[in-house]
Amino acid sequence: MIDAARLIGSCDLLLLTLDTLRYDVAVESLREGRTPNLAAVLPAGGWEERHSPGSFTYSAHHAFFAGFLPTPVAPGFHPRLFAVRFPGSETTGPQTCVFDAPDIVRGLAGRGYHTLCIGGVGFFNLRTPLGAVLPGLFAESHWRPDLGVTDPDSTANQVALACARLGELPADRRVFLFLNVSAIHQPNRFYVPGATADSLATHAAAFAYVDSQLPPLFEALRRRGSALCVVCSDHGTTYGDDGYTGHRLAHPVVWTVPYAEFVLPATAETP
Ligand SMILES: [Zn+2]
Repeated sequence: MIDAARLIGSCDLLLLTLDTLRYDVAVESLREGRTPNLAAVLPAGGWEERHSPGSFTYSAHHAFFAGFLPTPVAPGFHPRLFAVRFPGSETTGPQTCVFDAPDIVRGLAGRGYHTLCIGGVGFFNLRTPLGAVLPGLFAESHWRPDLGVTDPDSTANQVALACARLGELPADRRVFLFLNVSAIHQPNRFYVPGATADSLATHAAAFAYVDSQLPPLFEALRRRGSALCVVCSDHGTTYGDDGYTGHRLAHPVVWTVPYAEFVLPATAETP
Protein backbone atom coordinates (compact mmCIF):
# COMPACT_ATOMS: atom_id res chain seq x y z
CA MET A 1 0.00 0.00 0.00
CA ILE A 2 1.13 3.51 -0.80
CA ASP A 3 1.98 5.71 2.20
CA ALA A 4 -0.65 8.39 1.63
CA ALA A 5 -0.07 9.88 5.09
CA ARG A 6 3.50 10.71 4.05
CA LEU A 7 2.81 11.79 0.47
CA ILE A 8 -0.15 14.11 0.95
CA GLY A 9 1.12 17.65 1.20
CA SER A 10 4.15 17.05 -1.00
CA CYS A 11 2.61 15.87 -4.29
CA ASP A 12 -0.45 16.36 -6.45
CA LEU A 13 -3.30 13.85 -6.25
CA LEU A 14 -5.27 12.46 -9.19
CA LEU A 15 -8.51 10.53 -8.76
CA LEU A 16 -9.51 9.31 -12.20
CA THR A 17 -12.78 7.42 -12.26
CA LEU A 18 -13.38 5.43 -15.44
CA ASP A 19 -17.12 5.61 -15.03
CA THR A 20 -18.90 2.27 -15.58
CA LEU A 21 -15.78 0.31 -16.68
CA ARG A 22 -16.21 -3.40 -16.01
CA TYR A 23 -13.38 -5.31 -14.34
CA ASP A 24 -13.45 -8.13 -16.89
CA VAL A 25 -13.22 -5.68 -19.79
CA ALA A 26 -10.37 -3.78 -18.11
CA VAL A 27 -8.35 -6.96 -17.58
CA GLU A 28 -8.99 -8.35 -21.05
CA SER A 29 -8.18 -5.01 -22.71
CA LEU A 30 -4.87 -4.84 -20.83
CA ARG A 31 -4.01 -8.43 -21.75
CA GLU A 32 -4.80 -7.83 -25.41
CA GLY A 33 -2.70 -4.66 -25.55
CA ARG A 34 -5.67 -2.41 -26.30
CA THR A 35 -4.80 0.05 -23.50
CA PRO A 36 -1.06 0.67 -23.92
CA ASN A 37 -1.03 4.06 -22.21
CA LEU A 38 -2.56 2.76 -19.01
CA ALA A 39 -0.31 -0.30 -19.28
CA ALA A 40 2.67 2.07 -19.17
CA VAL A 41 1.68 3.57 -15.80
CA LEU A 42 -0.19 0.78 -13.99
CA PRO A 43 1.67 -1.27 -11.33
CA ALA A 44 3.32 -4.49 -12.52
CA GLY A 45 0.32 -6.59 -11.53
CA GLY A 46 -2.05 -4.55 -13.66
CA TRP A 47 -5.59 -3.99 -12.45
CA GLU A 48 -6.49 -5.01 -8.93
CA GLU A 49 -9.89 -6.65 -8.49
CA ARG A 50 -11.97 -4.72 -5.99
CA HIS A 51 -15.56 -4.27 -4.83
CA SER A 52 -17.17 -0.87 -5.24
CA PRO A 53 -18.99 0.67 -2.26
CA GLY A 54 -21.83 1.63 -4.63
CA SER A 55 -23.69 0.23 -7.60
CA PHE A 56 -24.09 3.54 -9.43
CA THR A 57 -22.28 6.85 -9.79
CA TYR A 58 -23.86 8.84 -6.99
CA SER A 59 -23.52 6.30 -4.19
CA ALA A 60 -20.05 5.17 -5.27
CA HIS A 61 -18.59 8.67 -5.52
CA HIS A 62 -20.16 9.79 -2.23
CA ALA A 63 -18.36 6.88 -0.61
CA PHE A 64 -15.10 7.59 -2.48
CA PHE A 65 -15.12 11.21 -1.30
CA ALA A 66 -15.72 10.01 2.26
CA GLY A 67 -12.52 7.94 1.99
CA PHE A 68 -14.10 4.61 1.03
CA LEU A 69 -12.44 3.73 -2.24
CA PRO A 70 -13.17 0.27 -3.70
CA THR A 71 -12.31 -2.54 -1.26
CA PRO A 72 -9.90 -5.41 -2.09
CA VAL A 73 -11.94 -8.54 -2.81
CA ALA A 74 -10.04 -10.80 -0.38
CA PRO A 75 -11.55 -11.16 3.12
CA GLY A 76 -10.00 -9.16 5.95
CA PHE A 77 -9.39 -5.63 7.15
CA HIS A 78 -7.83 -3.52 4.43
CA PRO A 79 -6.23 -0.22 5.51
CA ARG A 80 -7.47 2.67 3.40
CA LEU A 81 -5.46 5.34 1.57
CA PHE A 82 -7.71 8.09 2.93
CA ALA A 83 -10.13 8.44 5.80
CA VAL A 84 -12.09 11.11 7.55
CA ARG A 85 -11.86 10.82 11.28
CA PHE A 86 -14.55 8.87 13.08
CA PRO A 87 -14.38 6.74 16.22
CA GLY A 88 -13.96 3.00 15.84
CA SER A 89 -12.60 2.88 12.29
CA GLU A 90 -10.85 -0.47 11.85
CA THR A 91 -9.42 0.32 8.44
CA THR A 92 -7.35 3.37 9.35
CA GLY A 93 -3.66 2.41 9.48
CA PRO A 94 -0.36 4.27 9.89
CA GLN A 95 -0.20 4.94 6.14
CA THR A 96 -3.77 6.22 5.92
CA CYS A 97 -4.07 9.96 5.38
CA VAL A 98 -6.72 11.02 7.90
CA PHE A 99 -8.62 14.30 7.67
CA ASP A 100 -10.67 16.17 10.24
CA ALA A 101 -13.30 17.06 7.67
CA PRO A 102 -16.64 15.73 6.41
CA ASP A 103 -15.00 14.44 3.22
CA ILE A 104 -11.54 14.07 1.71
CA VAL A 105 -12.11 16.88 -0.81
CA ARG A 106 -12.54 19.50 1.89
CA GLY A 107 -9.91 17.71 3.94
CA LEU A 108 -7.41 18.19 1.11
CA ALA A 109 -8.46 21.82 0.75
CA GLY A 110 -7.66 22.21 4.44
CA ARG A 111 -4.14 20.92 3.71
CA GLY A 112 -3.64 23.62 1.08
CA TYR A 113 -4.73 21.71 -2.02
CA HIS A 114 -6.62 23.37 -4.85
CA THR A 115 -9.55 21.01 -5.48
CA LEU A 116 -10.51 20.72 -9.15
CA CYS A 117 -13.41 18.69 -10.56
CA ILE A 118 -13.68 17.89 -14.28
CA GLY A 119 -17.18 16.46 -14.61
CA GLY A 120 -18.41 13.76 -16.91
CA VAL A 121 -21.65 11.82 -16.33
CA GLY A 122 -24.90 13.45 -15.23
CA PHE A 123 -24.23 13.51 -11.50
CA PHE A 124 -21.51 16.09 -12.20
CA ASN A 125 -23.38 18.22 -14.72
CA LEU A 126 -24.19 21.20 -12.44
CA ARG A 127 -27.55 21.50 -14.26
CA THR A 128 -29.79 20.64 -11.30
CA PRO A 129 -29.45 20.79 -7.50
CA LEU A 130 -28.68 17.04 -7.51
CA GLY A 131 -26.12 17.47 -10.29
CA ALA A 132 -24.33 20.06 -8.17
CA VAL A 133 -23.98 18.01 -4.95
CA LEU A 134 -20.76 16.16 -5.80
CA PRO A 135 -19.09 19.00 -7.78
CA GLY A 136 -20.10 21.33 -4.93
CA LEU A 137 -17.46 19.71 -2.73
CA PHE A 138 -14.73 21.23 -4.92
CA ALA A 139 -13.30 24.74 -5.04
CA GLU A 140 -13.47 24.64 -8.85
CA SER A 141 -15.72 22.47 -10.99
CA HIS A 142 -16.44 22.22 -14.69
CA TRP A 143 -19.08 20.62 -16.84
CA ARG A 144 -20.14 21.24 -20.41
CA PRO A 145 -22.08 19.04 -22.84
CA ASP A 146 -18.85 18.23 -24.69
CA LEU A 147 -17.49 16.62 -21.51
CA GLY A 148 -20.54 14.38 -21.10
CA VAL A 149 -21.73 10.98 -22.26
CA THR A 150 -23.20 12.07 -25.61
CA ASP A 151 -20.04 13.56 -27.12
CA PRO A 152 -17.76 10.97 -28.79
CA ASP A 153 -14.79 13.24 -28.12
CA SER A 154 -15.57 13.67 -24.42
CA THR A 155 -12.29 12.29 -23.09
CA ALA A 156 -10.21 14.44 -25.44
CA ASN A 157 -12.20 17.48 -24.25
CA GLN A 158 -11.91 16.53 -20.58
CA VAL A 159 -8.16 15.97 -20.83
CA ALA A 160 -7.63 19.24 -22.71
CA LEU A 161 -9.49 21.17 -20.02
CA ALA A 162 -7.62 19.40 -17.21
CA CYS A 163 -4.25 20.06 -18.87
CA ALA A 164 -5.11 23.73 -19.39
CA ARG A 165 -6.03 24.20 -15.75
CA LEU A 166 -3.03 22.24 -14.48
CA GLY A 167 -0.79 24.45 -16.60
CA GLU A 168 -2.37 27.64 -15.26
CA LEU A 169 -2.15 26.79 -11.58
CA PRO A 170 1.04 27.82 -9.79
CA ALA A 171 3.61 25.03 -9.80
CA ASP A 172 4.05 25.27 -6.04
CA ARG A 173 0.32 24.94 -5.32
CA ARG A 174 -0.64 21.33 -4.74
CA VAL A 175 -3.67 20.14 -6.68
CA PHE A 176 -6.30 17.47 -6.16
CA LEU A 177 -7.62 16.73 -9.64
CA PHE A 178 -10.76 14.63 -9.85
CA LEU A 179 -11.74 13.62 -13.36
CA ASN A 180 -14.84 11.55 -14.07
CA VAL A 181 -14.37 9.93 -17.49
CA SER A 182 -17.77 9.74 -19.17
CA ALA A 183 -17.01 7.90 -22.44
CA ILE A 184 -17.45 4.29 -21.28
CA HIS A 185 -20.89 4.98 -19.78
CA GLN A 186 -23.75 4.32 -22.17
CA PRO A 187 -24.27 5.43 -24.92
CA ASN A 188 -20.98 4.02 -26.20
CA ARG A 189 -22.11 2.46 -29.50
CA PHE A 190 -20.41 5.21 -31.52
CA TYR A 191 -16.98 3.76 -30.74
CA VAL A 192 -17.67 0.81 -33.08
CA PRO A 193 -18.50 1.98 -36.61
CA GLY A 194 -21.92 0.72 -37.67
CA ALA A 195 -22.99 -0.48 -34.21
CA THR A 196 -26.65 0.24 -33.50
CA ALA A 197 -26.72 -0.75 -29.80
CA ASP A 198 -24.42 -0.63 -26.78
CA SER A 199 -22.68 -3.93 -26.06
CA LEU A 200 -19.62 -5.37 -24.37
CA ALA A 201 -17.76 -4.77 -27.63
CA THR A 202 -18.67 -1.06 -27.77
CA HIS A 203 -17.87 -0.77 -24.03
CA ALA A 204 -14.39 -2.17 -24.72
CA ALA A 205 -13.95 0.09 -27.74
CA ALA A 206 -14.88 3.11 -25.61
CA PHE A 207 -12.26 2.10 -23.07
CA ALA A 208 -9.62 1.82 -25.81
CA TYR A 209 -10.60 5.33 -26.97
CA VAL A 210 -10.23 6.64 -23.40
CA ASP A 211 -6.77 5.09 -23.11
CA SER A 212 -5.68 6.75 -26.35
CA GLN A 213 -6.50 10.20 -24.91
CA LEU A 214 -4.75 9.91 -21.53
CA PRO A 215 -1.05 10.61 -22.29
CA PRO A 216 -1.34 14.44 -22.21
CA LEU A 217 -2.99 14.23 -18.79
CA PHE A 218 -0.16 12.17 -17.33
CA GLU A 219 2.41 14.46 -18.94
CA ALA A 220 0.73 17.58 -17.53
CA LEU A 221 0.81 16.08 -14.06
CA ARG A 222 4.43 14.97 -14.39
CA ARG A 223 5.50 18.47 -15.44
CA ARG A 224 4.18 19.76 -12.09
CA GLY A 225 6.01 17.12 -10.05
CA SER A 226 5.20 13.63 -8.85
CA ALA A 227 1.55 12.69 -8.42
CA LEU A 228 -0.24 10.09 -6.35
CA CYS A 229 -2.76 8.54 -8.74
CA VAL A 230 -5.85 6.46 -8.04
CA VAL A 231 -7.46 5.11 -11.20
CA CYS A 232 -10.60 3.01 -10.84
CA SER A 233 -14.12 2.39 -11.96
CA ASP A 234 -17.10 3.39 -9.81
CA HIS A 235 -19.23 0.38 -10.84
CA GLY A 236 -19.63 -1.95 -13.77
CA THR A 237 -22.73 -2.45 -15.86
CA THR A 238 -24.72 -5.27 -17.44
CA TYR A 239 -25.43 -5.96 -21.10
CA GLY A 240 -28.00 -8.69 -20.73
CA ASP A 241 -25.97 -10.63 -18.13
CA ASP A 242 -28.48 -12.98 -16.43
CA GLY A 243 -31.23 -10.86 -17.96
CA TYR A 244 -30.05 -7.55 -16.48
CA THR A 245 -29.33 -4.35 -18.36
CA GLY A 246 -27.57 -1.34 -16.85
CA HIS A 247 -26.36 -0.82 -13.28
CA ARG A 248 -27.77 0.28 -9.87
CA LEU A 249 -28.43 -3.39 -9.28
CA ALA A 250 -26.65 -6.10 -7.30
CA HIS A 251 -24.91 -8.20 -9.95
CA PRO A 252 -21.25 -9.27 -9.59
CA VAL A 253 -20.24 -7.48 -12.80
CA VAL A 254 -21.62 -4.25 -11.30
CA TRP A 255 -19.94 -4.57 -7.88
CA THR A 256 -16.57 -5.81 -9.19
CA VAL A 257 -14.37 -2.99 -10.43
CA PRO A 258 -10.78 -2.45 -11.65
CA TYR A 259 -8.55 -0.42 -9.33
CA ALA A 260 -4.96 0.85 -9.38
CA GLU A 261 -2.91 3.17 -7.18
CA PHE A 262 0.57 4.34 -8.09
CA VAL A 263 2.94 7.29 -7.91
CA LEU A 264 3.57 8.97 -11.24
CA PRO A 265 7.14 10.32 -11.21
CA ALA A 266 7.93 13.92 -12.08
CA THR A 267 9.33 14.65 -15.51
CA ALA A 268 13.10 14.56 -15.21
CA GLU A 269 14.54 18.07 -15.10
CA THR A 270 16.68 18.92 -18.10
CA PRO A 271 19.98 20.41 -16.95
ZN1 LIG B 1 -20.88 5.78 -12.69
